[in-house]
Amino acid sequence: MTIRKIITPPNKLLKQPSLLVEQVDDSIRALVRDMFETMYEAPGIGLAAVQVGEPVAVIVMDTAGENEEPRPRALINPQVIWASQEEREYEEGCLSVPDIYDTVVRPAEVKVRYLDLDGNQREETFTGMDATCVQHEIDHTKGILFIDYLGRLKRERYLKKIIKKARQAQEA
Ligand code: ZN
Repeated sequence: MTIRKIITPPNKLLKQPSLLVEQVDDSIRALVRDMFETMYEAPGIGLAAVQVGEPVAVIVMDTAGENEEPRPRALINPQVIWASQEEREYEEGCLSVPDIYDTVVRPAEVKVRYLDLDGNQREETFTGMDATCVQHEIDHTKGILFIDYLGRLKRERYLKKIIKKARQAQEA
């Protein structure tokens, strides 16, 4: 297993839709293991493959709290097939948008179709924190960041901040 480097703007991959996985094979399972290791090390509660520079539709998540048993989940080619009218608002963050947090409103409940690590198709309903997290990660597979839901001025201010900080880190 390897901890991968997490990409940040202005890396254009983050704006690019990911490719669907045609076959869930050992290379995908190896990528998933790297993604879990990278996510837990960060630490974060969700990660999409594109964030480690692999633009394929693979996401991992674990929304367990600090004192709970881990709940690692991997979803291949995830797709929202139903969303509730009811909404949930949460102050989101993102490993590719470091140190920025802002409120995003999303459906409170979603049904997601995906392939598991054995390539079996599954459908599952996500609620609460899991619903927010899975929608955030699925957005990554479409080239959408949570800051894209904020106003243009806010988004541009955040992007400027991230790019400036990355440049400073490079120079240090
Ligand atoms: Zn994210």
